[in-house]
Amino acid sequence: MKFEVLTLFPEMFEPINTSIIGRAIEKNLIEINLINIRDFSKDKHKKVDDTPYGGGAGMLMKPDVVWDAWNSVKSKNAKTIYMSPKGKTLTQAKVEELAKEEHLIILCGHYEGIDQRVIDSIECEEISIGDYVLTGGEIPAMVLIDSVSRYVSGVLKQGSKTEESFSNDLLEYPQYTRPEEFLGIKVPEVLTSGNHQNIEKWRRQKSLEITLKNRPELLKKANLTEEDKIFLKEIEAKSNENMNFS
Ligand code: SAM
Repeated sequence: MKFEVLTLFPEMFEPINTSIIGRAIEKNLIEINLINIRDFSKDKHKKVDDTPYGGGAGMLMKPDVVWDAWNSVKSKNAKTIYMSPKGKTLTQAKVEELAKEEHLIILCGHYEGIDQRVIDSIECEEISIGDYVLTGGEIPAMVLIDSVSRYVSGVLKQGSKTEESFSNDLLEYPQYTRPEEFLGIKVPEVLTSGNHQNIEKWRRQKSLEITLKNRPELLKKANLTEEDKIFLKEIEAKSNENMNFS
C-alpha cells in the first residue's frame, strides 16, 4: 500500500519508521512518500501562507502551493484525505475501509488550515482523529498511516486483530503475561486452568464489563447473545446495589 503525504514538515514523520511500521516499510508491504509542500512555492522566499480574508488570527496555507503539490502526486486510483478537525471522526470501521485502498494521498494542514478553494477542488475526504485541535495534520496523518497499515496483509501476525478493542464493537478483555504473581497480585486463576471454554467465557464477560464501564454506547452496536444480555443486567443490578447507601 502506498501513502503519499503532503506536508510542510516532512521531518516530523521520522518516528513512523520505527517498530512494526518500520519493518513493514523494510519488507515493502507499505511505502510512505513525503512530499514537501514548500517545494511548490513560486515565491522567492518560499512563502506558503498568508493572512485570511475577512481578518482573524493566524495564517492560512495558500491554495496555489497546495494545489501544485497535490497535482504532483494525484492519480486516477488514489484517494485523497485531508486531515482536519472539521472532518468525520476516524473509527476502526473507517480504518478497515481505507485499508482496502491501494494508494492514499494524505494532506496535512498547518497554522490555521488551508484555503477552502483547494480543499473543495481536490475532492478529498476530511478526517479528524478526535474532538480537539492540534497544531498540524502531521500527527493525525501518522495516526491514520499506523492504524491503516495494521490492516495491510503481512504487517501483523494473523489473528492479532480478531479480538482486539472495537473489532466486534466491544473493548478488549484484560491480558496478563509472566510472572504469574506480580506485586502480590496473581493472574486470574481461569487463565492458567487450561480450560479453553472457561477462558473464552471469562474473556467475553470481562470484555462486556469494561465496555459497559468505559464505552456503554458501543454495546448498542455490538452483537450480543442472550447470555451476554443476562450478564450485563446482572452487573448493572450489582452496581445499583452498591450505589444504595441505606
Ligand atoms: N482553524 C482550524 C479549525 O478551527 O478547524 C484548525 C486548524 S489546525 C490549528 C491546523 C491543521 O491541523 C488543520 O488544517 C489539520 O490539518 C490539522 N488538525 C488539527 N486538529 C486535527 C484533528 N483533530 N484531526 C485531524 N487533523 C487535525
